[in-house]
Amino acid sequence: LASRLQNVFGKLKSRGKLTEDDVNEALREVRLALLEADVNFKVVKDFIARIKERAIGQEVMKSFTPGMVVVDIVNKELTALMGGTQAKLARSNRPPTIILMAGLQGAGKTTSTGKLAKYLQKQNHKPLMVAADIYRPAAIKQLQVLGEQLKVPVYAPGADVNPVDIATQGIAHAKEHGHDYVLIDTAGRLHIDEALMEELTKIKEAVQPDEILFVVDAMTGQEAVNVADSFHKQLGLTGVIITKLDNDTRGGAAISVKAVTGCPIKFAATGEKMDALEPFHPERMASRILGMGDVLTLIEKAQANIDADKAKEMERKLRKAEFTFDDFLEQMEQVKKMGPLDQILDMMPGMGKMKDQMKNVKIDEKQMARTAAIVKSMTKEERAKPELLSPTRRKRIAVGSGNTVVEVNRFIKQFEDMRKMMKQFSGMMGNGKKKGGMF
Ligand code: GDP
Ligand code: MG
Repeated sequence: LASRLQNVFGKLKSRGKLTEDDVNEALREVRLALLEADVNFKVVKDFIARIKERAIGQEVMKSFTPGMVVVDIVNKELTALMGGTQAKLARSNRPPTIILMAGLQGAGKTTSTGKLAKYLQKQNHKPLMVAADIYRPAAIKQLQVLGEQLKVPVYAPGADVNPVDIATQGIAHAKEHGHDYVLIDTAGRLHIDEALMEELTKIKEAVQPDEILFVVDAMTGQEAVNVADSFHKQLGLTGVIITKLDNDTRGGAAISVKAVTGCPIKFAATGEKMDALEPFHPERMASRILGMGDVLTLIEKAQANIDADKAKEMERKLRKAEFTFDDFLEQMEQVKKMGPLDQILDMMPGMGKMKDQMKNVKIDEKQMARTAAIVKSMTKEERAKPELLSPTRRKRIAVGSGNTVVEVNRFIKQFEDMRKMMKQFSGMMGNGKKKGGMF
């Protein structure tokens, strides 16, 4: 999905102007890509309709970078489709908070129970795991092994006790021993069946959980929707844990499940190890699906955030070498609007290697503030005409801005160089090409 969409967007982004046909063609590709990722048909249809409505409107056509705006709309709508913001785990004000794990066999319930326990433990909670899957002989043992490994107690009276009783007793046990979270691991079947649902319903009635988490394997794709739907109708799910995202990065299931059940995805699991669980961030998943995890994106994000009209005006000034210190200051403000660079990087997936690289080219915000101070210490005339900056004036500016003369000189030199370079650069690019920012 990612590479396919990247192609579409690559094409779109390079366009200066978009026609309705362009938008339609791009959206057709988006539709195919989503279907290929096994996103539910109806979900895709509604999604495309929504984007089309926005994309064909004013918003895009008036924009300086229409392609970028379409990408942005797709990104935002995709984020919204997956819940918009990060959905927090429930927390009862009358502890313990009771969490019931539900899902098909092999979805990753037991593993996720362990991971969630570890996650809670890290936040200084005192979880208890309850082994209510009595049908698979190895299931109880599996949870006990995880418990030992994590040093999280497991309540497991054995396979000859009824799961409903296990759950109720487990909660009594938790209250007695001061646990503030109870995680109930339950049985699954290969397919949804009456007996399984009935048992889960009984457990639900008996323990009144604060949270019923549906554990779903990302690889089930389209089928996940039907399973999620019937679990939701029977039990009233409150959240979803999507597992095995390390095996299937397409994310089709993540998109469909939220859209169909309305239940937010609260956690994503990306491996078999106990620390491979993290809160689910819709915006990150959207970026990941759109394949935006590359350096180019960062630059494009910068351009997208820079006001289009202003960018045009600056470009004109640059060509004529009229670019002033005031313009420089304004550009810097625009860059700041994007927010801290770290945060921008965090929003992007697959960051490990790139983040390290980016550390070196990080925009130093302190440095930016100092530079801004230099410009602000100049008079109006000086800002417009750098050639006015005599040594005496530079000294005054240094004092006014709390910098040394050396620093002021260095900055002015940089500014002059940049102006020269930009002039050459824009000359080289000829006309018609857009260029937003310069950082
Ligand atoms: P349950 O039947 O729902 O309790 O499923 P289990 O927790 O026993 O998990 C079934 C299998 O999936 C086990 O082999 C797990 O190690 C594996 N598994 C669970 N979560 C993940 C995950 O996020 N990534 C990967 N690669 N494997 C997982
Ligand atoms: Mg299990």
